[in-house]
Amino acid sequence: MSTIGWVGLGNMGRPMTANLVKAGHTVNGFDLVPEAVSAAAEHGVTAVGSIAEAVAGADIVFTMLPKGEHARTAYLEPNGVLANADTKTLLVDSSTIDFDSARALHSEAAKAGFRFVDGPVSGGVTGAEAGTLTFMLGGTDEDVAEAKSFIEPMAGNMFHAGGEAAGQAAKIVNNMMLSISLQGVVEGAVLAERFGLDPKVFYDIATVSSGDSWPLRTWYPVPGVTETAASNNAFKPGFAAALMHKDVELAVAGAETQGLDLPAAQLVHAQLQKLVDEGLEGLDTSALIRNIDPKAAG
Ligand code: NAD
Repeated sequence: MSTIGWVGLGNMGRPMTANLVKAGHTVNGFDLVPEAVSAAAEHGVTAVGSIAEAVAGADIVFTMLPKGEHARTAYLEPNGVLANADTKTLLVDSSTIDFDSARALHSEAAKAGFRFVDGPVSGGVTGAEAGTLTFMLGGTDEDVAEAKSFIEPMAGNMFHAGGEAAGQAAKIVNNMMLSISLQGVVEGAVLAERFGLDPKVFYDIATVSSGDSWPLRTWYPVPGVTETAASNNAFKPGFAAALMHKDVELAVAGAETQGLDLPAAQLVHAQLQKLVDEGLEGLDTSALIRNIDPKAAG
């Protein structure tokens, strides 16, 4: 079995590392937040106090961080991954980050003599817990094949999306589509209730009808309807609105560089911006329902 270094033990990193431990690996885990490290230690992660300790002796290092700026810090600062890992160690960044940061990490890692793969994921906390995430991998054939051999206990699907930053490209497009579907779900959930439908009855109808979608089944924004929804838990994330705001912003900005106008993505971005402006970006993304019915998110 292998030694795995892990940086970033938040909503996703915590259950992902649990599956690596279950598969028999030693996982040395670090997070800036001590409570995140102790929560991961409860499922068998070896708690360490720095990135240098997390990467020491690792066959592979994974990072699972919020945004590009966090990933750049974790890799490029003097106390970060590149300055402290052995160049034999394969590096995989599973955070969803902007193209510029992803390309910078590929090139800085290569300059320092490392192999690097961008490997963002889809499937949410439920997929992370179940070990059924979809991984979208960008890098060389050899590096991606090696990364897959470690990723397997966390994944339902693994795709080699293409060369450097191709995993990020696939992920950003996926999340743009997810956010647009979710906007439909939050609008539908409020309208169904206003029409007098029982939320559970409507959910049962829509999940086997043409209105079905992943956010409908997984994130239904009305409490007591589906077990996996953050609405059951006062919209505690889950997937924070701040992170979806970042992802849709990346999609809209990327579209602009291609001369594309994406009206639905822009609309959802404005809806997410509203949550940010109201200080609600720490809530789950399904709190978008609050823009339609302010009482919905408490
Ligand atoms: P999170 O905010 O819950 O966790 C991120 C963790 O990184 C935090 O615990 C934070 O303290 C830690 N961190 C930040 N900078 C650090 C540093 N320099 N060193 C060590 N730790 C550091 O976020 P999350 O929900 O786990 O998401 C992580 C990434 O995965 C994001 O890019 C997100 O867009 C993506 N993602 C999230 C979901 C989801 O449903 N939550 C699904 C798919 C992809």
